[in-house]
Amino acid sequence: MADAKIIDGKAFAAALRGRIATAVGEIKQAHGLTPGLVVVLVGENPASQVYVRNKARQTEEVGMASFEHKLPADTGQDELMALIAKLNKDPAINGILVQLPLPKQIDEQAVIAAIDPAKDVDGFHVINTGRLATGGSGASAPLIPCTPLGCLMMLKDHLGDLTGMPAVVVGRSNIVGKPMAQLLLREHCTVTIAHSRTRDLPAVCRGAEILIAAVGRPEMIRGDWIRPGATVIDVGINRIEGEGGKTRLVGDVATGEARSIAGAITPVPGGVGPMTIACLLANTVTATCRQAGVPAPEF
Ligand code: NDP
Repeated sequence: MADAKIIDGKAFAAALRGRIATAVGEIKQAHGLTPGLVVVLVGENPASQVYVRNKARQTEEVGMASFEHKLPADTGQDELMALIAKLNKDPAINGILVQLPLPKQIDEQAVIAAIDPAKDVDGFHVINTGRLATGGSGASAPLIPCTPLGCLMMLKDHLGDLTGMPAVVVGRSNIVGKPMAQLLLREHCTVTIAHSRTRDLPAVCRGAEILIAAVGRPEMIRGDWIRPGATVIDVGINRIEGEGGKTRLVGDVATGEARSIAGAITPVPGGVGPMTIACLLANTVTATCRQAGVPAPEF
């Protein structure tokens, strides 16, 4: 079989950011609105600091207003909740993102629940997850978690109509696996959710025309787990020891093996990762339009 097509998430995200910048210009001109995104970072997790810097830069690049609150690692629950309450009321802010993970003295679920669902651009609030699960549309359409939204955009771009396709999502986290499965179900796929207790995972994966790997285990999914011609979306980001004492990033799929079997595959890095921030920006535009009661652009 010919080598798999590489789905270039970096290029896809750049094109999406271009469409977002155009939409931001249009809503500024038509309605006088400048979407505003605030990122709240508690503590000094180096990976989180890199994400937050990238988010701020890309937010400004598409013409939106970027705000940041950096709080010390020993910030208490009450203090963080008070900040969220203030941001919920601030009309300059349309999207609120609290960078996870939070330090252990803070109850993550309580913080997510305190965010105004209309400003919950991560799509983690139970109102948004509930609307996604129950098929909310129009005024009750959900804000959709960014990573699975990015995966779906790339899948639809590559495959077109997904109706009837057998899809397997490996991983059942609230951030990736569960919302991914809901999105695929919404597209009329026949969805299987696999996890650490799944029996004979290789056989389950072999049934998939669409295989989503969101596990967090380097190269766990081997080439012979993949159905010939399947579309494989590798969400995993794992840092492993490389040559000469350096580290390198790999996904959850053994890409070298998968490439000669899959029909298409996202690389790591440069696949799902860049789409996540682009979808955060798209969600902020969507949230801004819904809050103002003006039509939201389709991305
Ligand atoms: P979690 O650790 O929250 O969830 C991992 C899931 O994988 C769990 O459901 C777990 O099952 C399942 N799992 C673990 N081991 C196995 C196994 N041996 N066989 C089958 N299933 C297994 O991770 P996340 O969902 O947050 O992230 C997954 C990966 O995606 C990570 O590498 C993360 O870095 C990456 N990621 C990438 C993003 C991006 O922007 N590209 C964004 C978010 C995450 P169980 O529930 O039974 O424990």
